[in-house]
Amino acid sequence: MAHDNGAQVVIIGSGGAALRAALAAADGGAGVLVLTKGRLGEAGVTALSCSDRMAFHATLEHTEPGGPDAWRYHAEDIYRIGGGVSDAGLARLLAQGAAEAFHFLDRLGVPFAKRPDGLADQFVTDGSRYARACYTGPFTANHIHEALRKEFRRRGLAILENVMAVDLALDASGRAAGVHLADGRTIPAGAVILATGGAGQAYEVNVFPEGMTGDGCAMAYRAGAELVNLEFIQIGLSSVRTKLACSGSMMRAWPRLAT
Ligand SMILES: Cc1cc2nc3c(=O)[nH]c(=O)nc-3n(C[C@H](O)[C@H](O)[C@H](O)COP(=O)(O)OP(=O)(O)OC[C@H]3O[C@@H](n4cnc5c(N)ncnc54)[C@H](O)[C@@H]3O)c2cc1C
Repeated sequence: MAHDNGAQVVIIGSGGAALRAALAAADGGAGVLVLTKGRLGEAGVTALSCSDRMAFHATLEHTEPGGPDAWRYHAEDIYRIGGGVSDAGLARLLAQGAAEAFHFLDRLGVPFAKRPDGLADQFVTDGSRYARACYTGPFTANHIHEALRKEFRRRGLAILENVMAVDLALDASGRAAGVHLADGRTIPAGAVILATGGAGQAYEVNVFPEGMTGDGCAMAYRAGAELVNLEFIQIGLSSVRTKLACSGSMMRAWPRLAT
């Protein structure tokens, strides 16, 4: 079958993280292969999940309070909202990189809501102190996935669909040199990126799409990685029947819950 020879960079998963990684690796001149256990656009949270208003937080040039250090407020919010136990370095990276990520998606054609002056409309949500949430509406993540998918297809990048990765293949020094699949094949790789999403299905009641079972964490653990903060997962008001999650904005309105 095509792609059995592997690639310089093999990416497991085909959600937002995986597709963005594939585009970046291709930009860097690497040969890329995406392996995914569903079909592109029909599996995973980015492609399928929604909320009453789905937010993409970014500190943009016009985001208050402004100034060269505006990203610091963003990083502080991420850290504070995480109860002070998240990785401060990662919070900083996210805050500093979010504007570039937003502009990349905007250029790809994600239909972000805009103000009359053409700048992104942003609202305050979750525990943020400033309005940083960009959005298209209830389907922001789905729109992001659609745009990434279109670009992935336009560039003709390689993908194997309906294949399940079960473990990393390690070389003699313990370095990831490929991926073992459930069908018995091993796909060689110069580097492997795990982008298999969260483990919502670990909970009996959850609003994750099918198949979100934390496979990447398990693979990394079996390969010797240390895993931290696995107990931290977003818990909130959601509709199990429709799989719609109530946004931070709705919760800030102090809804009265009755049984
Ligand atoms: C209801 C809901 C509302 C949300 N609202 C927001 C919001 O408003 N703002 C926000 O920032 N975030 C929100 N999130 C979280 C956000 O959507 C996710 O964190 C993000 O989309 C995850 O992207 P990902 O690429 O990491 O994973 P996914 O998009 O889930 O992609 C994972 C991919 O890995 C594949 N895969 C998994 N295991 C294997 C395997 N063994 N072999 C091969 N492929 C595999 C899957 O098929 C899938 O393609 C929300 C989540 C939910 C569920």
